[in-house]
Amino acid sequence: MAKTTNLFKIVVGRIDAICDRLNIDDACRLRLAKCERELTVNFPVKMDDGTVKVFTGFRVQHNDTRGPAKGGIRYHPDVTLDETKALAVWMTLKTAVVNIPYGGAKGAVVCNPKVMSQNELERLTRRYASEISILIGPERDIPAPDVGTNPQVMAWIMDTYSMSKGYSVPAVVTGKPIEIGGSKGRLEATGRGCVISAQLAANYLNMDLKETTAVVQGMGNVASVAAKLLAEGGCRIIAVSDSKGGVYNGSKDLDLKNVLHHKKETGSVVGFKDAETITNTELLALPCDILVPAAIENQITEANAAQVKARVIVEGANGPTTPEADEILGDNGVFVVPDILANTGGVIVSYFEWVQNIQALFWDEKEVNEQLQKLMANAFAQVLRISQSKKVTMREAAHMLAIERVARAMTLRGIFP
Ligand code: NAD
Repeated sequence: MAKTTNLFKIVVGRIDAICDRLNIDDACRLRLAKCERELTVNFPVKMDDGTVKVFTGFRVQHNDTRGPAKGGIRYHPDVTLDETKALAVWMTLKTAVVNIPYGGAKGAVVCNPKVMSQNELERLTRRYASEISILIGPERDIPAPDVGTNPQVMAWIMDTYSMSKGYSVPAVVTGKPIEIGGSKGRLEATGRGCVISAQLAANYLNMDLKETTAVVQGMGNVASVAAKLLAEGGCRIIAVSDSKGGVYNGSKDLDLKNVLHHKKETGSVVGFKDAETITNTELLALPCDILVPAAIENQITEANAAQVKARVIVEGANGPTTPEADEILGDNGVFVVPDILANTGGVIVSYFEWVQNIQALFWDEKEVNEQLQKLMANAFAQVLRISQSKKVTMREAAHMLAIERVARAMTLRGIFP
């Protein structure tokens, strides 16, 4: 496979390889290689100092054959249209792997939310929501949080969309605050799903989670919940990180509560007392049983994959492993639970939130978590079965399951007109 770091090319390359294997017809293959709709918006925002800045945003719908498009919104200074397209494709695949009735979408704004005030973020979000309102809607395309966005941002989008309609439309976004129709369990869902995946992988490999050590890259929404729930399950968390670096304590468990407190106070986990400061590269190479990359893409590459010592990798982030790294990990016998399976907890509970909004009723947290466990365990078992019967990696198996489902749906619906 030709080497590239362009995520969209990587994703399409993977789909193409699986289409070859599954003998998927050309019409489906061609459709999967493109995004159905790609909207770029350039819009002005008044900043607190009275100046005006023009921001660029995207909303991409990859494929909505199986249901309304679904996917998060990312606020990041380096985000590009191609990255947004790749993330939209992954959403098509994820919703198909866990068999929920959605297609795939993603949105983004090129901005640095860390240096913007709340008022600036609100104005940016409301204008962006208004700009993409020609695409979004509860039956059409439903955004959710991703890197750099959170329940408050979803609340602003819901309010902006509702104002344009003249009535409240809670189902236009998921990952909202509970007070305005969010679901119990949604905030923790992606991290919880990672831990369900880790537990299922441990069961399969005859590992006792209580006797394992784990390293978690991130310390944002997904990573911090995954680390906390892994620790609650008896696993020893020996290192965590964020964009500024990591902290490691090999001899005793990291005190996660205080690590998070330190991050809140100083902006980073780095400098936390009772732990050694390490780089993100060093973190990925630490001896451990379970590695959870839950930060950003392209972290495990050809350059460092051979140094990974974990037995199991649970991909909390989207696209943390490059195709070249994948081959090295496979050769070294590392069991990888791929992103399109491991981090589906968020979209699964987003689906539950949307269902609750449409039915105007609410589930308790126990029910949400039980249904999440059920859907993820089913998907994991199906992917594992394909991986064993076809002698392919878990990633290839998950792609096979997803692509077969989407291709079948496209064939059944046919082509209009
Ligand atoms: P977040 O913004 O809450 O956290 C991101 C974290 O990554 C931050 O702690 C940041 O400091 C850290 N980070 C950034 N660059 C880094 C680097 N180079 N090295 C180490 N750490 C770095 O975002 P999140 O919602 O937790 O998302 C994390 C990943 O999970 C993303 O890939 C996202 O697409 C994926 N994901 C998120 C959800 C969700 O529900 N939030 C669902 C599915 C997948």
